[in-house]
Amino acid sequence: MTFTVHGQAVSRGVAIGRAVIVTSSRVDVAHYFIQPEQTAREIERLCQARQVVVQDIERTQGQVQAMSAGSAPPELLALLDVHLMLLQDEQLDQSVRQWIEERHYNAEWALTAQLEVVARQFDEMDDPYLRERKADVEQVVERMLRVLQGNASPVMPPVLDNEGKAVAHWEDPLVLVAHDLSPADMLQFKQSVFAGFVTDVGGKTSHTAIVARSMDIPAVVGARTASQWVRQDDWVIIDGDAGVVVVNPSPAILDEYAIKQRAGERERERLARLKNTPAITSDGQHIELLANIEQPSDAVAALKAGAVGVGLFRTEFLFMGRNGQLPDEEEQYRAYVATVEGMQGLPVTIRTIDVGSDKPLDRVAARTGEEHLNPALGLRAIRWCLSEPAMFLIQLRALLRAAAHGQVHVLVPMLAHASEIHQTLTLLQRARDELDAQGAVYGSIKLGAMIEVPAAALTVPLFLKHFDFLSIGTNDLIQYTLAIDRADESVAHLYDPLHPAVLRLLADVIAQGRAQGKPVSVCGEMAGDVAMTRLLLGLGLRSFSMHPSQILAVKQQILRSDAQRLGVWAHTVLEADDPASLLND
Ligand code: PEP
Ligand code: MG
Repeated sequence: MTFTVHGQAVSRGVAIGRAVIVTSSRVDVAHYFIQPEQTAREIERLCQARQVVVQDIERTQGQVQAMSAGSAPPELLALLDVHLMLLQDEQLDQSVRQWIEERHYNAEWALTAQLEVVARQFDEMDDPYLRERKADVEQVVERMLRVLQGNASPVMPPVLDNEGKAVAHWEDPLVLVAHDLSPADMLQFKQSVFAGFVTDVGGKTSHTAIVARSMDIPAVVGARTASQWVRQDDWVIIDGDAGVVVVNPSPAILDEYAIKQRAGERERERLARLKNTPAITSDGQHIELLANIEQPSDAVAALKAGAVGVGLFRTEFLFMGRNGQLPDEEEQYRAYVATVEGMQGLPVTIRTIDVGSDKPLDRVAARTGEEHLNPALGLRAIRWCLSEPAMFLIQLRALLRAAAHGQVHVLVPMLAHASEIHQTLTLLQRARDELDAQGAVYGSIKLGAMIEVPAAALTVPLFLKHFDFLSIGTNDLIQYTLAIDRADESVAHLYDPLHPAVLRLLADVIAQGRAQGKPVSVCGEMAGDVAMTRLLLGLGLRSFSMHPSQILAVKQQILRSDAQRLGVWAHTVLEADDPASLLND
């Protein structure tokens, strides 16, 4: 039966493929594709894990019987028997193996994929006793997952084709459907074969959506209950423009979307011709188009899109999903140098670590509710760094050393207080002193502040006094100005880049920066939204930083714009009660 689910549109285009459901589990499960030659080893891991759990249960049975001298509670023994039966169930075993052999899932993923299928079968049973057996399957799978966790196999990088896309080992395209994916999970899927993805939760500027956008595949977030209704292998259409997901489409609907998909591909090919065209408005204003990246390898996409530098390297992705084992100075230094070299002499703006909020260091923390009740207002970004000065110093030393290899700009997120500025500057000086004491080679940097807290936007002169440049983080500036959690789909309709208060702050920051001759950039998602390009130009913005996939469409918009005329128009938009109504004037 065909049905439709609505959510928030994250990235453009249409994807059509078979659904791969990724379930959240109480155990932290890594999901990745194995190489075909790893299949036997993966099945062996599965068998070993099952063997360990079987032995564990048999041992428990023995202990219970010995302790109770023949009068063991029959319910407990019956439960252990059920668990043993499930573990020895041929059909379950075969089905899990199939996920490994045919889809090349790692063992943990194969187990949870099959658990999902079985759980739904149990849910549909009429007999309440049988329905409750679902919990037993979950417990058995969870035990196996825990054993597998202690015996992890190395994640092999995917085999890439000439375009840098992962090579799939099966015929149909796949789309990912999940209740939630952490930014760290998303990063793991970045170089994978998925044609699109859908999550139940999240807003347009949640970090999961941001990483998805950087993958340049159609995506819908905040689709509420999609992962409950879509089944493994269902055919799914993801319309990333409209925020719509069509499940089990009829042939007529499939045809319609296939046409739309091809039109999108042609549009991309057309835009690709603009790569080497300088971004200059029709009245001769030069505009800087920079790339937002999450890892050093993204430099390839940045150059391919014609970016003239990196405007935001979100370094926290180097720190996430590592079970708290942070990269040391050497590892960080190598990553920053790789990025600088990857950008071939162009400037690279590296942001100091911004963990916390919807980017927990450890993905388990986010799921167990260990985090702050309102993490966006908690110990995040520079606040976290200043509370962990030893860690911050490691990053600052690595950045200074990387600066010896090229143009490195360092950007500090979420500053609001003069005391935070002073502490940051003091730690930066200490990092230099430490490098001097070691006789280490390091370079000079330009230092920038992110303006993403209203308090900072209202005290720009303080920032201009201490920093070489400013970068406006509109994702957070909007979140904090409007008191809207950017990751919460239930208030997503109130997340409004065009709210007069937001526009007023933006206009003032840009104007004050320009008046002092200091570069001001926007690096939030607003910079990559073609619907906002004219307005940002009109507000005086001359530097935009966005995902590489958005650069050419924004450039096209710039080439068609007259910045001076837009300046006059932007003034009326700023004064309006409902700026959105004037956007297309
Ligand atoms: C922003 O807040 O706009 C920004 C660019 O930073 P992040 O999205 O990583 O919080
Ligand atoms: Mg931010």
